[in-house]
Amino acid sequence: PQDVALYRSRRDIRVEGQDVPKPIRVFEEANFPDYCLEVISKLGFVEPTPIQAQGWPMALKGRDLIGIAETGSGKTLAYLLPALVHVMAQPRLAQGEGPIVLVLAPTRELAVQIQAEASKFGLRSNIRSTCVYGGAPKGPQIRDLQRGVEIVIATPGRLIDMLEARHTNLQRVTYLVLDEADRMLDMGFEPQIRKLISQIRPDRQTLYWSATWPKEVEALARQFLQNPYKVIIGSSDL
Ligand code: ADP
Ligand code: MG
Repeated sequence: PQDVALYRSRRDIRVEGQDVPKPIRVFEEANFPDYCLEVISKLGFVEPTPIQAQGWPMALKGRDLIGIAETGSGKTLAYLLPALVHVMAQPRLAQGEGPIVLVLAPTRELAVQIQAEASKFGLRSNIRSTCVYGGAPKGPQIRDLQRGVEIVIATPGRLIDMLEARHTNLQRVTYLVLDEADRMLDMGFEPQIRKLISQIRPDRQTLYWSATWPKEVEALARQFLQNPYKVIIGSSDL
């Protein structure tokens, strides 16, 4: 009630959507597995950032989510830790199955950074992740995909190549992340994004992240998300 409103206003958290859960205040409240809390404390993090405090309880509901917050605000863990929880709740991957979590990102550099974060947390859980991006040899990427990975972080073009060559498939994807959606649109990835999403089951959970909220970014979200929560951090008139 009032203390939630105060907590949100102090951190410039704005929310939209039906039945919005209240933000968490400390990491322990999110109900992540213990090994995640251990990694968080090893990293020296003191408290959730605003996008995490409000985004985690939303993402953990299994609903679609739009998160808008500036660069450096902690968006990666805002979707990665709920992704680990999601994977643990799914049946294990069988031989030949593709990933359960797909993260689409605009650049190789970003994909690599996201995977570095994922592997810090995934190590102790036997949840495997790999990166798929252009401008690098395909061999090692194909090998990882064929070994089986629960989480794939990919740039759109190379992932389409891998799918067309049947090195992986998106039939098991139930948690889809579009990171830096605004940059992906600026870089002209909309057709590739559409093509990829058309191969993913419609009852997936979709999480859509952006630092800015122009019309085109909003229009794309409207097409691919269902009854989303929205969380906006910052006082700018987004
Ligand atoms: P964004 O995607 O919003 O640009 P990142 O997810 O890349 O931001 O996070 C920026 C930096 O903040 C990273 O180095 C990350 O490890 C760190 N970070 C994430 N969450 C926290 C936290 N709760 N406390 C302190 N640092 C954090
Ligand atoms: Mg980011």
